[in-house]
Amino acid sequence: MQGSLSPPKPKNKIPMFHTETEMALMQRAIELALKAQAAGEVPVGALIALNGEVIGEGWNRPILAHDPTAHAEIEALREAGRQVQNYRLVGATLFVTLEPCVMCMGAISHARIQRVIYGAPDPKRGAAGSALQLADADFLNHRVEVTGGLYGEACSNLLLDFFRARRSTSSVRSSEI
Ligand code: ZN
Repeated sequence: MQGSLSPPKPKNKIPMFHTETEMALMQRAIELALKAQAAGEVPVGALIALNGEVIGEGWNRPILAHDPTAHAEIEALREAGRQVQNYRLVGATLFVTLEPCVMCMGAISHARIQRVIYGAPDPKRGAAGSALQLADADFLNHRVEVTGGLYGEACSNLLLDFFRARRSTSSVRSSEI
């Protein structure tokens, strides 16, 4: 289904410059998003790769963790920091199924992440170019390369299906993301 967005999109939306490894890593991030979904959390997954190795994974779990900061990216950053015993993850790439929010872009900047590859854009709260651009904000003192849209439709459909299902059983605010 193409949805209500226009104009019609080409079938293959994956930019040509994504490598097979990057595609596989985003598929893994989607698997992590499904873990969040299985737990009743908004389905967002993230992982961090450094030198061809995954050093941190996470999925959205603020409700179960009683932690407003427990977004997928933050969870992955915490694990990666522990893994390499360094709060700075210079040269690392963060994969996430949804465009990061303000909080996560701040943390990504503190961690000195080199590159962010996200799936679905978040027009309302995305802070990597959609609602706000923090990837190259001067006051953050760190520039992050950002690429969006890798498996964007799949990532977006995860969220749409989740909220559609939730709406049919109970009321939910999209601000839970
Ligand atoms: Zn976030």
